[in-house]
Amino acid sequence: MHTRLAAFGGANCREQLTRSCRLENAARNVDCPDMNDGSGIYDVAVIGGGPAGLVTAIALAETGARTALVARRQPYADNRTTALLGDSVDLLERLEVWPRCRDQAAALRVMRLVDDTGRLIRAPEVRFSCDEIGLDVFGYNIENRALIEALEQRAAGLAGLTRYDDEAATISPEDADVAVRTRDGMSLAARLVVGADGRQSLCRQAAGIEVSRRGLNQAALTFNIGHSRPHRNISTEFHTPQGPCVFVPLPGDRSSVVWVAAPREAERLIALSDQELSEAAERQSHSILGRVAVEAGRHLFPLGIEQPRQFARARIALVGEAAHVLPPIGAQGLNLGLRDAADIADIVRGAMRSGEDPGAPQVLERYDSARRSDVASRTFAIDLANRSLLSDLLPIQSLRAAGMHLIGSVGAIRRLAMREGLAPSWRRSRGHGNTSRPD
Ligand SMILES: Cc1cc2nc3c(=O)[nH]c(=O)nc-3n(C[C@H](O)[C@H](O)[C@H](O)COP(=O)(O)OP(=O)(O)OC[C@H]3O[C@@H](n4cnc5c(N)ncnc54)[C@H](O)[C@@H]3O)c2cc1C
Repeated sequence: MHTRLAAFGGANCREQLTRSCRLENAARNVDCPDMNDGSGIYDVAVIGGGPAGLVTAIALAETGARTALVARRQPYADNRTTALLGDSVDLLERLEVWPRCRDQAAALRVMRLVDDTGRLIRAPEVRFSCDEIGLDVFGYNIENRALIEALEQRAAGLAGLTRYDDEAATISPEDADVAVRTRDGMSLAARLVVGADGRQSLCRQAAGIEVSRRGLNQAALTFNIGHSRPHRNISTEFHTPQGPCVFVPLPGDRSSVVWVAAPREAERLIALSDQELSEAAERQSHSILGRVAVEAGRHLFPLGIEQPRQFARARIALVGEAAHVLPPIGAQGLNLGLRDAADIADIVRGAMRSGEDPGAPQVLERYDSARRSDVASRTFAIDLANRSLLSDLLPIQSLRAAGMHLIGSVGAIRRLAMREGLAPSWRRSRGHGNTSRPD
């Protein structure tokens, strides 16, 4: 505490910390660590209020850790949806988020992969069905806007979570804690900072963590559609020579579309009129959903792959897109982000139970090793799938077709692929991410 007060300028700092908490308490009537009992430092501060940051803040507050969330409240900016797979829905259920948004989500029961490359060597259609691995559903597709609303509601009801409706301007790791100063001039300190501040992460930079980046010559166009035929809870992914185009069920006769293409083609598609884009989507879907009508709102995302050298350093741990950026293939991005959230919450709970400092090097090391193989294996698999689709080389195309044929025709391989697509098997067997309530 003394180190931190000195860094903030002693008495001025205490006054500033007190002011920031008073402001927040006045606005939101939430708890704030008592500035007069010598405990005016949070156990954890989460920076960033995207889906990964909100889930992480809720999961951490649920462990009993005194948690701050530095994130501007703002309407969700795009129309992305998330196919929440495997453990993700269980985690949201345990955190009391899922009941607030489940009626806005569509169940995913079958996933079809269709080779639409028109190449000489084409892969057979592969159909994954959840009942083949004893599940009722693979997961649920939900608009991010609805998910964020449910997360915001849940976060607002947690007494142990203090919200700073602001952005972090500076983040300074010290020996005993991390100082955070916000754009509006507030200051706080935490023993551990969780960087959930997206691709241009200030937290990652403050921790001195390098990141490797590879731009892909692809962009994803997202929009939602209404259609005349029911989707029957089947998600269909058409593999084109420029990338996949996937139609994912939404409630009713609606679906979300993620159309990956070369940047110039994606620019052409986004500039089409509603009528033209509806026709293009209907053609691309081979009319499996009948007549298509695009809804308002389209967004374009340049694609790339990003991986940091470490997932935690200098009292800062990274989650969500601060920790991994992947192309939207196989719906892995936010599902990985939710596993980051579950793991950091488990590790912080364990550390605090045994009297450890949650930002201590050995605690960060535990998080780094928990996340390393999950993120690396998903990144490798998605990159490989994408490269094999884009490759003009006949031997690669043959190998890809043979692989798809094996998955499609050999039940044991297909079931393995389904289970691994939901969550890594080593994770299930070790019982990771069982974020539960404090005793
Ligand atoms: C087209 C597309 C489709 C996708 N589909 C799926 C899918 O089906 N399933 C899936 O699992 N994943 C999917 N993903 C991936 C998923 O969308 C991302 O993983 C997820 O949105 C990342 O969330 P995040 O919270 O880490 O980052 P973000 O949503 O970028 O949130 C970061 C937040 O931090 C805030 N911030 C930044 N700097 C600061 C600061 N200094 N102080 C405070 N706040 C700050 C930002 O304002 C922002 O609100 C898809 C991605 C794309 C591009």
